[in-house]
Amino acid sequence: MFAEIIVDIAHSAVDRRFTYRIPEGLPVSVGHHVLVPFGLGDHFKEGFVVARKETSDYPEIKDVAKIIEPYPVLLPEQIALAEWMQDAYHCLFVDALRLMIPAQLRGMRIKEKRVHTVCLADGLDVEAALDSLKRAPAQKRVLELVARINAEASVPDINAFYPNSTGAVNALIARGMLVEQSETVFRRPQKLRIHTPAHTLTEAQASAAKAIDEAMDAQNGSVLLLHGVTGSGKTEVYLKAIEDCLKKGGQAIVLVPEISLTPQTVGRFTDRFGDRIAVLHSRLSAGERFDEWRRIRLGLADIVIGARSAIFAPTERLRLVIVDEEHESSYQSESQPRYLAGEIAAKRVRELGGTLVLGSATPSLLSYSRALSGKYRLLELKERVEGRPLPTVEVVNMRDELLMGNNSIFSDKLVERLSECLGMGQQAMLFINRRGYATFVSCRSCGYVLKCDNCDISMTYHKSESRTRCHYCGAVKPLPKECPNCKKPFIKQFGIGTEQVEEAVHRLFPSVRTLRMDTDTMREKGSYERLLSSFHRGDAQVLIGTQMIAKGHDFPNVTLVGVVSADTTLNLPDYRAPERTFQLLTQVAGRAGRDNLPGRVVLQTYEPQHPIIRFAKAQDYVGFFHYEIMERKKLLYPPFSLFLRIVFADRDEQTAERGCLDYAKQLEAELLSVLGDEGKNDLLLLVAAEAPIARISGYSRYQIVIKLLRTRRLKSAVRTITAFHDLHRTVCREAVLEVNPQEMF
Ligand code: ADP
Ligand code: ZN
Repeated sequence: MFAEIIVDIAHSAVDRRFTYRIPEGLPVSVGHHVLVPFGLGDHFKEGFVVARKETSDYPEIKDVAKIIEPYPVLLPEQIALAEWMQDAYHCLFVDALRLMIPAQLRGMRIKEKRVHTVCLADGLDVEAALDSLKRAPAQKRVLELVARINAEASVPDINAFYPNSTGAVNALIARGMLVEQSETVFRRPQKLRIHTPAHTLTEAQASAAKAIDEAMDAQNGSVLLLHGVTGSGKTEVYLKAIEDCLKKGGQAIVLVPEISLTPQTVGRFTDRFGDRIAVLHSRLSAGERFDEWRRIRLGLADIVIGARSAIFAPTERLRLVIVDEEHESSYQSESQPRYLAGEIAAKRVRELGGTLVLGSATPSLLSYSRALSGKYRLLELKERVEGRPLPTVEVVNMRDELLMGNNSIFSDKLVERLSECLGMGQQAMLFINRRGYATFVSCRSCGYVLKCDNCDISMTYHKSESRTRCHYCGAVKPLPKECPNCKKPFIKQFGIGTEQVEEAVHRLFPSVRTLRMDTDTMREKGSYERLLSSFHRGDAQVLIGTQMIAKGHDFPNVTLVGVVSADTTLNLPDYRAPERTFQLLTQVAGRAGRDNLPGRVVLQTYEPQHPIIRFAKAQDYVGFFHYEIMERKKLLYPPFSLFLRIVFADRDEQTAERGCLDYAKQLEAELLSVLGDEGKNDLLLLVAAEAPIARISGYSRYQIVIKLLRTRRLKSAVRTITAFHDLHRTVCREAVLEVNPQEMF
């Protein structure tokens, strides 16, 4: 027998199947992680068995040297998935395979944790044995101890009792007085249980759960979109669906955005399903991650909760995948392979005959249009549970405030609502999309703007550090007293960040305690959890933060949400800005009034008439959808087209520029010839220019933006671009191709 093996080296030159002989007696099967002699010196390399075959015509074949883990680490379905990804995301086979196993498994950097235990040998006459050990006091006291425990004793425990006893233990084993055993233990992350009583489902929840149950029975790989307003009880539907899935003997994967993977979220699931849950996220230790993965692989866990990469969990009996907050951009991987978790989920359930549930209060335009076209089944929860009203949204025109002479951060309305809320002993959240104190520093006399020396970006003032900071490369600079350009003392800070909002709250309400949540206050491990539970306990009355506070949290005592400025995201130069703004406003607003107290939202803006603001005020997703999809259609933006971007970066500005421009010229010619006469109009745009942020960390940046109409020729056009990129990526220090880039500037 022969094995086809992918060697664990990420290089396109060796990213193919190598054939090895399976030596007699070595039980190598598909999915095994093995050692093989490789290359000229026959050095041992790790590899993955992706197929077995009976024959090979290749004359000189080497043997597989060793099986590393006793069980196959990859399922056949995962191998097929990796092969599909190779084409879909234009990545190396081995890079896709690596996503499916814990990183530390490679290089054999992590092992099972075993605990050695000993117990008395069967039928041992303890008295006589102790007598015979008079001249070996160390052994005697160990034997006495084990006899006293009269059960299995772990060697570390014995050593804790009598230090340095391992030798004595081994001697007793050699004498046949103790019998050795060893047992695998799983390192488990600490799991909090948040007790939430199982609710009787509302009619809408029950009918959604029923539809999911039926889809699971049909086993046809269908996708359901659960569109439920904030607080409509989507989680309860997920819990019911998982319960049904387990009853059928299936396994389930639940994806949530990393940021909402808090002890609170996990706690709700753990309370319901206990030890059948495995958790996968970036805050686990290597040992915990390996062991959680192994519990899934060995079938000991039936439910996986995790962030994006948990979609690759080795669930052999997968029947249900839930993607919560499906519109979140964190489901898109930012590094190679640049996969989309929802797409991987759809592929897996299609192959396995499972069911995919996408849930959101604000589905992505793409998902909702697929639901309308019947490609996905649409399930709706139109009301909050227990007849709780959606929060009332008040829009304040900040221009009017200015005209009335109020140039502070807060409108009169927001101050009024804040004092009402705090006066009643309730809590408030204030949302501002910028961290720091002031977003830029400028001279009022000559207009000079303080910029980073390495990046083409203005410096943000951080009052708590009394200096300025670049949010791209982290460089710091002092705040100048006079203008470095005109030397006049008119340097001033502009724009509002989280620090300034916090300061303003303290000025207005000196006795009120606040908490601030942004990447500046969240650097330490565990700080996120600490801050959330502190606010939950009521240690502070006001929580101020960036988008971090918008996601999924359930604080029953929060009745007011203030959006300090709705305009910052709305005016970003990105076609997704309106969609992101609507999603964000709906999510933040959804934090208010989730329990029995009604909620209020005050939304401050300079553009109260903007359609997006009006849909957000009415919390009208469907209205927003129809408006925005028409806008996209008019301008042929996605989903009617596809954007690609290639970013060129080099320390030498000319190399970056020339590399980019030459690349663009050649690529355009090649694309046009592939598209042919019939398809030449599919290429809506191909522009090469300096990137909007022309310098980052000392690198000059140029970019090509390509926009392709979505037609049947799209796939071959994208293939042409990726193949071209492979050949020409070396034109400068760095050239990165992104299909459907998350950022355009
Ligand atoms: P969503 O995820 O849709 O925003 P959640 O699932 O977090 O909503 O539910 C909001 C709140 O309503 C939670 O506190 C939850 O415990 C509660 N809840 C959910 N379903 C019911 C129900 N059928 N009856 C009563 N309360 C419910
Ligand atoms: Zn910088």
